[in-house]
Amino acid sequence: LQKGAEGVVDVRPVSWGDIGGLHEVKRQLQQAVEWPLKHPEAFKRMGLSPPRGVLLYGPPGCCKTTLVRAAATSCHVTFLSISGAQLYSPYVGDSERLISEVFHKARACAPSILFLDEIDSIIGKRSETGNHGVGERILSALLNEMDGIGVRLGEASGSAKQKLLEGSSQGFIEKSQTTEEADNKQVLVVAASNRPDMLDEALMRPGRMDRVIYVGPPDVVARHQILSVYTRGWGLSDVTLGQLAQETDMYTGADLESLCREAALCALTENLEAAAVSHDHFRRALTSVRPSLTQEIICQY
Ligand code: ATP
Repeated sequence: LQKGAEGVVDVRPVSWGDIGGLHEVKRQLQQAVEWPLKHPEAFKRMGLSPPRGVLLYGPPGCCKTTLVRAAATSCHVTFLSISGAQLYSPYVGDSERLISEVFHKARACAPSILFLDEIDSIIGKRSETGNHGVGERILSALLNEMDGIGVRLGEASGSAKQKLLEGSSQGFIEKSQTTEEADNKQVLVVAASNRPDMLDEALMRPGRMDRVIYVGPPDVVARHQILSVYTRGWGLSDVTLGQLAQETDMYTGADLESLCREAALCALTENLEAAAVSHDHFRRALTSVRPSLTQEIICQY
């Protein structure tokens, strides 16, 4: 089984305007992610050490990944993404090698955001790991890399770095950025979890996950804004998005995206020439796209 770090550079840009609601979370992320990456000199001037790690937690489908992608787009930094499942390998040393490769790549492409998705699936509490020590080994490799981020910035040689930069020409790296400039830039680790209670405490120590941000389910105002995002540019006949927002309690952002897609498909099924989506199409979509959230899920957080 060969798992390489290739292909983890994510190039899909997302703008803050593509995200409905979550204003407070966006503000916190701008402070924790954008400021240190965009203005490292300001942190230096004030004698502040920039956060090394940020943890986003909350129910699935509520925008954690998309928020980080938006922060990367806005900062024009490389966005590398890898999930807990991709890191898993039962072969001794395989997962550690992958972590080391991903961090090496993140440093070489700095400034960068290294996004570790579904981190709880692989790094549980040490006392509770039932995966033959793989989680423990990954945790230890991850902590080593995180502890070394500050020290090893700029470790890649100029030519190796240039090669990586060229290889990611479709990424967020601006062509004008020189390798020398990249030497002083940093790597920010952002992890996402649906089960923060499952994470090992060692990951939460200062200097590791310095900021913890809750990304909760959308309230009625946020649902209205999300529906507006996904119906932007559509012809809407007799649809009141405010009313729809009231009727979609327990729908996540992902559910609302599916709902809009389903309503548009209903309109097209009726008439392939259709240019507008009606209240009735949404009504029908509501019967097939059901909410993912329950009170029980929300209470876990
Ligand atoms: P998971 O924990 O399952 O990985 P997540 O919290 O990372 O989920 P995303 O993958 O970011 O969620 O979102 C799933 C889909 O729902 C994406 O297509 C995203 O754009 C959309 N979505 C979720 N919340 C919002 C929102 N507030 N505004 C716009 N789109 C949203």
